[in-house]
Amino acid sequence: MESELYMSDSVEKIIIIGSGPAGYTAALYTARANMEPLLLEGAPSKEILPGGQLMTTTEVENYPGYPDGVEGPQMMADFKKQCERFGTRCLWETVTDVDFSERPFTVTTAKEVRKAEAVIIATGATAKYLGLPSEEAFMNRGVSACATCDGALPRYRDKPLVVVGGGDTAMEEAMFLTQFASKVHIIHRRDEFRASKIMADRAINHEKIEIHWFSTIDEILGDDENGVTAVRIKDVNTSETTDIECTGYFSAIGHKPNTDLFTGVLDMDDTGYLVTQADTSRTNIEGVFAVGDVQDSVYRQAVTAAGSGCMGALDATRWLEEQEAVN
Ligand code: NDP
Repeated sequence: MESELYMSDSVEKIIIIGSGPAGYTAALYTARANMEPLLLEGAPSKEILPGGQLMTTTEVENYPGYPDGVEGPQMMADFKKQCERFGTRCLWETVTDVDFSERPFTVTTAKEVRKAEAVIIATGATAKYLGLPSEEAFMNRGVSACATCDGALPRYRDKPLVVVGGGDTAMEEAMFLTQFASKVHIIHRRDEFRASKIMADRAINHEKIEIHWFSTIDEILGDDENGVTAVRIKDVNTSETTDIECTGYFSAIGHKPNTDLFTGVLDMDDTGYLVTQADTSRTNIEGVFAVGDVQDSVYRQAVTAAGSGCMGALDATRWLEEQEAVN
């Protein structure tokens, strides 16, 4: 209840909502510009991990500057340390409400109501999973939702792999995995892909890809020692089940941008991603910026999110300086 919340008297220059490569990079740049950013990382829960999607990634091999690779959680700890070094205050608080109707803006968490001159949104996106207990059980031990992040790991090399989904993400993931896998099985619940024709055709015609139409995932099979060893699929017409041997199962049934807080407030596209103005991080509300996966349905990489966080910090800093010059 808002009445029980602590109301801060001071007005922050910048509040950054959400951690992960975009949020921490925005914090690093705004801190070095003496903007004394406050970063609300999210309170740890089943849904929220401060640090974002990389906290559930094992080894990251494609982030420049780590020639020997780095564990996702370690990389986020490094990002956090670096932004704190320049004075960023990081708090494990989840934003529950925002009011962008007047400036300074209001940002509310379960603990406190705060005001800020500018807000940078870096709440990211969440990969969707089917929700099977066996998916959860083998997470990071053969279960992944990011082929680009995990596909080149040794456990997936020269082994059969399974991808579920029929959209562009599934096609892209499957195509990417063909570089490493002995074979890639795409499991799709209908007899037609939702993906763009060009990407669907590429997958359909690929010699390493086998498509299982009208099929759903019934269970992920495996054991403690080996992680995933097979996937049981079910024919939706006959209910017949078949086990496909594999060392990896990639969920590619879409991502959900974490934008529920901003519904009706900020412009979004049809799939809920925040819309930013061309080549900037500016949203439709002056002084509110969006960076990283929350506004990017295409690239979704740690390095692009970090670059976007930098853009947001520069945009916000310049905007604040312009405001000061005017007032
Ligand atoms: P989509 O929503 O387009 O596709 C999700 C797919 O997963 C659908 O085929 C859907 O099946 C299937 N699916 C969803 N839920 C389930 C479930 N519970 N069980 C089984 N299957 C399920 O998501 P994408 O992430 O693929 O794409 C999102 C957006 O990003 C799109 O606009 C896409 O074009 C874009 N994108 C573009 C890329 C590019 O241009 N390089 C790359 C990746 C994404 P069904 O079809 O039956 O509904």
